[in-house]
Amino acid sequence: MSNKPLTHGNLFIIAAPSGAGKSSLINALLEKHEHHQMQVSVSSTTREPRPGERDGEHYHFLSKAQFEAKIAAGEFYEWAQVFDNYYGTSRRIIEETLTRGIDVFLDIDWQGARQVREVYPAVQSIFIMPPSLAVLEQRLRKRGQDSNDVITRRMSKAHAEMSHCHEFDYLIINDNFDHSLTQLEHIVFAQRLRTPAQQVRHAAILKDLLENGA
Ligand code: GDP
Ligand code: ADP
Ligand code: 5GP
Repeated sequence: MSNKPLTHGNLFIIAAPSGAGKSSLINALLEKHEHHQMQVSVSSTTREPRPGERDGEHYHFLSKAQFEAKIAAGEFYEWAQVFDNYYGTSRRIIEETLTRGIDVFLDIDWQGARQVREVYPAVQSIFIMPPSLAVLEQRLRKRGQDSNDVITRRMSKAHAEMSHCHEFDYLIINDNFDHSLTQLEHIVFAQRLRTPAQQVRHAAILKDLLENGA
């Protein structure tokens, strides 16, 4: 038997105003399912690493010149300027991972989401909202990784990011974390049950049922 996977992975976008909980939700989903057939895309960025962030794990940290060279070489699936820094998704890794049958999560902003929908219409996009602006600010402070200045800038951009929520296929209000995680799981697992994917995954069963059931 060949090791080639029978199905192609699904591509998901997860967007939110900074601090709404998208990184925590994606990480919890991956841990709960032991990364089985799912992977988060590691973006490139020109922002400074936060305390504890490791190059290649949280982001590929690049200089502005390195990032611009990659834009020119067409290496990004999408890229955008967010909070005065560049952020982008590597084209090669996404394509290779999906071909291996693995679901890929993109933690990207609404500008990147628009670009990905253009090149990959089958993408499923999910928007995470905080239950209120007050809670959003509390979460940014609780995370304790950004300066007051950065928090103020992120709060002032929150409305702009949230105003694009209607462009997304799914909307999760991240109030209770466990409820939100369950909702995210439902979206991801329902996608795996779509008929075209199931027809490939269970080709033998369907052939038997359809050919012998007449
Ligand atoms: P953002 O989504 O725009 O804020 O940017 P990131 O996706 O880079 O934000 C996630 C950051 O918050 C990462 O540095 C995580 O390590 C950190 N983070 C997320 N959840 C937790 C948590 O529960 N505890 C701690 N200590 N850090 C967290
Ligand atoms: P984002 O990636 O959207 O910027 P994070 O995942 O870093 O957000 O979450 C911001 C902070 O809020 C973190 O400290 C995280 O632990 C916390 N958080 C996330 N979701 C919830 C929730 N439902 N209830 C309480 N705290 C949460
Ligand atoms: P942070 O600096 O807090 O990690 O991320 C800031 C914002 O940039 C978030 O809204 C996040 O979704 C977005 N972002 C992170 N990586 C990418 C990427 O590769 N492409 C785009 N377009 N946005 C990204």
